[in-house]
Amino acid sequence: MFLQGLMALIKAHMLEIVRSKTAIFWMLAFPCGFLLLNGYVMARGDARVAGYMMPGLLTITLMSSGLFGVALPMVQQREIGLLRRLHVTPVSAAAVALSHGVTAVISGTAVLALLMGLATLLFRIEMAGSWVTLFVVFLCGASALIPLGLLVGSTARDVRTAPAIANLLFFPLMFLSGSAFPLAMMPDGIKRFARVLPTTYLVDAYSSVIVRGEGLVAIGGTLLTLLAVGVVGMVLTSSLFRWEGTEPISRKALAAIAVSFAVVLGTAALAAPAFRIDELPGNRVIQAGTAKGVTRILRGATVLDGLGGRIDNARVVIRDQRIVEVTVDDSTRADSTAGDSVVVENLVGRFIIPGLIDSHVHWGGSAGFGDTPEERSDLRMEHDFGAALSAGVTSVVSLTDDMASMRSLAEAVAAAKERAPRTFFSGPSITARGGHPAKMFEFMPGMAEQLTRQVSTEEEAVAAVAELDRGDVDIVKLVLEPGFPGSPMPRLDEKVFRAAVAEAKRRKMLTTVHIGTDADARLAIDAGVDGLEHAARGLTQETLALMASKRITFTPTNVVLDLAWKERAISGGDDLATRLALPSMRKSLLAPEGIFQKNFTTDAMRANMARATAGSVQQTALAVRAGVPILAGSDAGNPATFAGVALIRELELLAEAGMTLRDILIAVTSRPADRLRQSRLGRVASGAVADLVVLDQDPTLDVAAYRTVRSVYLGGRKLDMAKLLTTSPGTWQFGK
Ligand SMILES: [Zn+2]
Repeated sequence: MFLQGLMALIKAHMLEIVRSKTAIFWMLAFPCGFLLLNGYVMARGDARVAGYMMPGLLTITLMSSGLFGVALPMVQQREIGLLRRLHVTPVSAAAVALSHGVTAVISGTAVLALLMGLATLLFRIEMAGSWVTLFVVFLCGASALIPLGLLVGSTARDVRTAPAIANLLFFPLMFLSGSAFPLAMMPDGIKRFARVLPTTYLVDAYSSVIVRGEGLVAIGGTLLTLLAVGVVGMVLTSSLFRWEGTEPISRKALAAIAVSFAVVLGTAALAAPAFRIDELPGNRVIQAGTAKGVTRILRGATVLDGLGGRIDNARVVIRDQRIVEVTVDDSTRADSTAGDSVVVENLVGRFIIPGLIDSHVHWGGSAGFGDTPEERSDLRMEHDFGAALSAGVTSVVSLTDDMASMRSLAEAVAAAKERAPRTFFSGPSITARGGHPAKMFEFMPGMAEQLTRQVSTEEEAVAAVAELDRGDVDIVKLVLEPGFPGSPMPRLDEKVFRAAVAEAKRRKMLTTVHIGTDADARLAIDAGVDGLEHAARGLTQETLALMASKRITFTPTNVVLDLAWKERAISGGDDLATRLALPSMRKSLLAPEGIFQKNFTTDAMRANMARATAGSVQQTALAVRAGVPILAGSDAGNPATFAGVALIRELELLAEAGMTLRDILIAVTSRPADRLRQSRLGRVASGAVADLVVLDQDPTLDVAAYRTVRSVYLGGRKLDMAKLLTTSPGTWQFGK
């Protein structure tokens, strides 16, 4: 009986909606128009940007269904006396309210399906999360917004005033929630106010599912807030329900509603998880992490700013995590103006440079062969973080590493929760089926799948790039490697390679390519990549000239070939390696029966690698002379290529290749930062992140000066050098 009545009511409401031009306009035409405007005009057909706009659009749509789809039929039915007739039947006010709610959910679901279908079809938007979660978010949002429709429906006098009242709520909820324009663009005051609007919670929940691919657990707090608003709203608005237009509106009920909403949303604003409303697509900024309340004044050192500039007797002021002042030191100035949280360091005779950036590492690689238990443990990676920081490396570009763990590492460092170099990452490399480096990983099941995306068609290439984009990688690494004569390898097909690069460019993602030969380089350059990795087996002058004119970066990673140095380093001939390489790893590399000694140190191998190193350095020299922008990268993680240590050796090899010491400093600081679009990293300048290294000697006079690291600052914190290798990097260690 109850169900039958409910069904009859829902049917009546649906008819009312279909008949009402106002309802159809706000529930269907308006969202569809908004979708086309968003997709074609604002996102210019860009699938990623269009995807970022969907949460706002879906919120607006649900607001329309909740407000207009409930209020208009309700007022209409009261006007024509339908409700009065119902009043004499055993139907309760709650049942009428419920029937409106169900109607709004049904119509809202239809519009949701229509919009997501259109967006997928027209703009190829990508749904990062699950459709089930999306529907749960929709239901929670509906429960919060339908009471608003009931409120309008109960209070509006007639069908003419109802839309006016609905719009009174509609527009503020739309603009202040970030549904129409990203909240990240709005002033702080509005952002704070936005936290008391249910629609802001809804936009956040939709973003979590569609953009970030999060599950129900991650957005539980937000959904509970919406449900709480819904329950309170339902109870209160049913007390406002009127069977006839002549019934008075209860002022008391209206006041109760206002107060309850304020309480629920006020509590939510304080207690619910923080919104990520500051995030804009493609605008990721490395946060330096908190180092609150500390002002450091570094006095008297020579600053080499990483951009080619030099200030003798400098004064560098760091507040919290940023550099706020870089000037010539004026000794007449008082230092202790800001109270006792000011730390003054006298650095006369020393040299301040930006923290070093290693543009090519593999955190996943141990630099050994996995034959000691220690190097297979987390301890090894923790050790490498400390070793890199000890060598002055405060940022790295991790290539061909596990995507999810690199992202969480990057986030932990940015939030100052992990003591490790800032990690920019590519995630898995895109290569041919069975191509390099997938072949190398065959020894461990599953590893090739984790660290590469092996593609053989254009569609697969495009899908792989899309997946990396969803994984929020900083750079896309592709591989063009035909192998050596006698041991050829499957190489990416030209069309497939071009499709991948084109897709990355369309998504405004950075690209870099592992190349084997000059032909690989030419294809990569022609496809429009941003960088090349490794000194290829001979690049022609024409190729180098093209790279120079198109400003394509070149990361030669000479050191990974330098077997002579590696043999010296593991046997104690390199002070830095002795200090920073994991002792058990050096021991296993030295073991006469170990893989390294047996397979890598034969006379033939030595002669081969000496030739390869000389060739690579020669190639780098030609690139330098041609004006190619060089980046310093170590390829750390490869056999006997130790984190931190290998980069310092690479700087020495760059000097051997004829790079000026001034340009080497740029190649390991501001140039790699700029290439990563991180204009606040890699320089000693006002406003930059305070990642700094203090050296005892001048690196523009002698490349060996990089071996004289005295102290390292990461995001304004001075690291305790004595404890970097002996304590867990999970906790920050401060120096004095
Ligand atoms: Zn590599």
